[in-house]
Amino acid sequence: MICVTIACGSHTRMIAEHQTLADSGVQLVELRLDFLRREPDVGRLIPVRPTATIITVRRKLEGGLWRDTEENRFRLLRAAIAEGPEFVDLEVDIADEIPPYGKTRRIISFHDIEKMPENLDALHKEMSGKSPYFIKIAATPRSVDDMFRFIRFVQQKNQQAKTLGEKGVRVIGICMGETGKATRILAKKFGMPYTYSTFSEERVIAPGMLVYRDLLDLYHYEQTNQDTDVYGIIGNPLGHSLSPLIHNRSFVEQKVNAVYVPLPLEDSEVSGFVQRAEEFGIKGISVTIPHKVAVIKELTRMDPAVEKIGACNTVVFRGGEKLGYNTDYLAAVSSIEIALGGNTKDEVSVLDNKNALVLGAGGAAMAIAYGLKRRGTAVTICDINGNRAYETAKQLDIEVIDWKARDKFKCDVLANCTPVGMFPKVDETPLDKAALHPGMVVFDAVYNPENTLLIKNARSKGCYAVSGVEMFVGQACLQYKLFTGQKASATFMRQLVKDAISAAR
Ligand code: NAP
Repeated sequence: MICVTIACGSHTRMIAEHQTLADSGVQLVELRLDFLRREPDVGRLIPVRPTATIITVRRKLEGGLWRDTEENRFRLLRAAIAEGPEFVDLEVDIADEIPPYGKTRRIISFHDIEKMPENLDALHKEMSGKSPYFIKIAATPRSVDDMFRFIRFVQQKNQQAKTLGEKGVRVIGICMGETGKATRILAKKFGMPYTYSTFSEERVIAPGMLVYRDLLDLYHYEQTNQDTDVYGIIGNPLGHSLSPLIHNRSFVEQKVNAVYVPLPLEDSEVSGFVQRAEEFGIKGISVTIPHKVAVIKELTRMDPAVEKIGACNTVVFRGGEKLGYNTDYLAAVSSIEIALGGNTKDEVSVLDNKNALVLGAGGAAMAIAYGLKRRGTAVTICDINGNRAYETAKQLDIEVIDWKARDKFKCDVLANCTPVGMFPKVDETPLDKAALHPGMVVFDAVYNPENTLLIKNARSKGCYAVSGVEMFVGQACLQYKLFTGQKASATFMRQLVKDAISAAR
């Protein structure tokens, strides 16, 4: 079940939002009385509640907005309970002030917005002595170890509660912060009775809180369970990644019991995370900027392409092994071959004996240059940073030219692997239009927008134009196969990407 928290300043608005949520199928709502600007009137709010309701009055210490005295807070909580809501949230240290009353069930809570409690078992024991119906612990991990320690604790306590049947007290455990989002998405996997969410983006009142509709539609929360396989993406930042969308929708479409979560990690957290991910049911991860290089030293085995390119974008966890792949290079090269009417299975690629110029010397450039070379293409690279281009050329044993010489260079295939032309700077292009000629293949790794200025110019000059959407979809399809063993639908993923890009405008 998903609980939606309503935190707004007026009674009228709170009642209206509660009704809207009930009408859209929400079954549990938390009313945050500390957000009300006027003195809370529980007699107005609780009797008309259209769903099961949790009453919460959070003080500042735990991130709440209660401005009045503690005595008045206790008075308000007692008055609220007298109205008979289904649940009341009481912080562990004040729970004794508010004795159990009537049918209202007690959620005994603990919050730490700075750190993770050292002794979770001792805290749980103390909370268990306060007549809880549920125990809620929301804390802030300071490291990946903290997060894993907490998840293990929550899983164990919920397992014990299940064994005890009706007498068992289940734990809602939330890791606050962006990385903690995964604990909110995976609540059912970890045996929690429900997870908290918010009404809309503007109403995010705790770090990492998710919007109700995203939990339902993007992360298919209601379909997850303790057997759900977990996949995710590590990188930083991840705010605009389309990977959760296309993988999650494909899982639902193909009835695969899996969920794909964002895992924004700091550089220092990558090693600890990759080493222990499998212990927590994580089966595979996509890896994006800036961790594609750092993750390599954590692998137990890798595809030769990973070693040669020096970047890994996919890790599969299996039987203690951490297997590394690079699906970028194959996706980019295949998308060009398909545009030329070729087939990735052809013995001799349509790219054989062609001459390519790669712009950029970062991760995408390395992957494409490597892939083209493997297909028999003579590859030349250039980058705004001459030294970087030289180093890349040396590593891949390809040619290098000066960045300023790119417009005069004669090639059959041009691959833009710089961010030039990317939203919002859509009026820029990395190569002069005059340098394009009919029959040339122009590939642009940039996929937002799909039709960059370079791609538009290429079409108008009679070139074969291949957008970055093809590479993005291609690398995701290959990842999906590595993760699940099943073939993804490129058509389905492509449409999702195109819709998401245009909706973001
Ligand atoms: P990266 O590792 O940061 O490399 C970017 C390269 O572009 C670097 O060589 C950089 O030069 C150069 N560059 C940056 N700004 C430039 C400018 N204004 N003019 C000329 N060169 C510039 O990034 P990446 O991972 O390779 O990604 C490059 C592009 O490909 C991005 O737009 C990314 O979104 C896209 N991409 C697409 C896919 C896909 O699936 N379609 C996959 C991966 C990447 P320096 O040497 O000076 O840093």
